[in-house]
Amino acid sequence: MTDAAVLCNAGKIISVGKTRDALKDPWIKKNKRRLTEIDCGGRVVLPGFVDSHTHPAFAAPRLVDFEKRIAGATYEEIAEAGGGIRSSLAGVRGAGKAQLSKEVLKALHIFAAHGTTTVEAKSGYGLSLAAELKSLEAIRSAAGEWPGTVASTLLGAHVVPPESHGRADDYVKLVCEEMIPQVAKRGLATSVDVFCERAAFTEDQSLKILAVARSHGLSVRAHVSQLTRTSLKRLLAFQPLSLDHLDFVDDNDIRLLANSNTVATLVPGANYFLGLQEYPPARKLIDGGAAVALATDYNPGTSPTANMSFVLSLACTQMKMTPAEAISAGTINGAWALGLADRKGSLEPGKDADLAIFDVTDYREIAYWFGSHLCKQVIANGVPITPTGK
Ligand SMILES: [Zn+2]
Repeated sequence: MTDAAVLCNAGKIISVGKTRDALKDPWIKKNKRRLTEIDCGGRVVLPGFVDSHTHPAFAAPRLVDFEKRIAGATYEEIAEAGGGIRSSLAGVRGAGKAQLSKEVLKALHIFAAHGTTTVEAKSGYGLSLAAELKSLEAIRSAAGEWPGTVASTLLGAHVVPPESHGRADDYVKLVCEEMIPQVAKRGLATSVDVFCERAAFTEDQSLKILAVARSHGLSVRAHVSQLTRTSLKRLLAFQPLSLDHLDFVDDNDIRLLANSNTVATLVPGANYFLGLQEYPPARKLIDGGAAVALATDYNPGTSPTANMSFVLSLACTQMKMTPAEAISAGTINGAWALGLADRKGSLEPGKDADLAIFDVTDYREIAYWFGSHLCKQVIANGVPITPTGK
């Protein structure tokens, strides 16, 4: 819509329409003096991005892994050499909660600078009861200082930590009997995630974790088919909000996804950063009727970016999504993937006042000018934030 206006009050969208109609709105007439007008000057205004898959609770970037990968090491070779997820463990276990929270908050400001107003944030680099709780507490404390919205996820089942090597079932027991109940009791997360993959947890172990999570009233999601195909049928029985990655999804799984309410969340930033030739089959998923969301997968090992516009660009150039499909995938479909579609992901009366203003005049430019910083201003829950996070 051109020459549009969005009227917001008390953190909610009141109306969306033409400027001339907004000016006739009786509420505006009555409250003219109290009104703050942001003139967008004909620029593109979108609902704030909903980044439905991120891992922000870590202490340091993984630059050694970065160089090893450039030299030719694979994901699994890096993991076997003590790099990968396990190398972030020491950092998180050794960090104080305040330090971790500072890192998360720093990341949240970068997300906002790129137009993201809702962020899903996973734990998963602590992998002990204490360190997972600390990670989720750090996320909660950072979220409290950020105007946007954070949905927290327990990813205690990211990989088996080194001290449980060869005793994966014992570790799953710790996740099921201690982590999930404590996280649920303390309201530290709204969903539970599991990495169901050859290098992480088996299908049976994953199903057990999802069942316990559901029994504690938590939503579930899973990392699947990233390195090899994961069978989705039994996982889908737990009605996950999303199944994420899906590089090796097959036609049968696509049919199952299309017939479910589960969102297929694709994270092409990881493929880009790992230097992979293949990307998740977005076209097959969309044409097959699955709901596709796009997310950054912000994490220190495989996708160190908080820039949703760049992810949208990858979706268009590498996965042949149209710019319009990519924007929907990064907004409303991301909101569905978080169970927040009633509040987030579109500019509609009654929804939260989350808006991102881009310094372009056509929405297609957001995916076109790849790697650029186009977001000029963000409004999260009615609160204006400038791209510097101030
Ligand atoms: Zn992930």
